This record gives sequence, C-alpha cells and structure tokens, in this order.
Amino acid sequence: MDHKLSVLVQVDLDGRYVRLLVTGCLTEANQHALHPLIRRARTLIPPVTVSVDLTAAEHVEGSAVGQLRTAVDHDPTLEGTSPVELLLSCALPEHPEAPARMTRHLRAPGWLAA
Ligand SMILES: [Zn+2]
Repeated sequence: MDHKLSVLVQVDLDGRYVRLLVTGCLTEANQHALHPLIRRARTLIPPVTVSVDLTAAEHVEGSAVGQLRTAVDHDPTLEGTSPVELLLSCALPEHPEAPARMTRHLRAPGWLAA
C-alpha cells in the first residue's frame, strides 16, 4: 500500500499557536517525518500551543500515534518550551480502498454532481 503523508503548517500571526494539519497516512514508518516539524514549531516563537491535527488524516495507525506521543514526551531532540497536543478522531481511520479514495478525491472539488 502507498502510505503517503502530507502536512500543512498553519502559524497564527498573533503567535498563539502553530497547527500541523496532517492528511494522508500516518504510520509507524513515516511518523518520524513529523519530528523535525514539531521540534521547529516548539522553538519557533514560544510559548505557543503546537497542535498536531490528525482528524483529517485518511489513515492513522494507533502504534504510530503511540510512538509520536512518546517521542513528544520523552525525546530530547523534540524538546521545546511550547506544549504539544495531538488531535485525533474518535476512531482511527483504516487505509481506504483505492476506489473509495478516488471517489473521495473526485467528490471534494464537486466533480461528481449527483
Ligand atoms: Zn495508509
């Protein structure tokens, strides 16, 4: 399966928060890609709240969330003065089947007028 991770960084101009909006797939294999972004956000303009928003991700592995949380809490390379919060959906989404992904993709811009 192709587990692709995308991240959009939103910075509040008043300096109150940095939001990392994650889409695509968050897996054990790619969760480390968020580490440098989190580290950078935590040291950018403290003290801000750094939100890692996983609610829009299409696929989230529970083990990846655990590793990410552990890294944020205990990894000295991710130290910073700003608190980090992980935002999750109630149920972690599974990797979608190809047709479902295509349908969702086509639906978004309104190409499938029903
Ligand atoms: Zn996936």
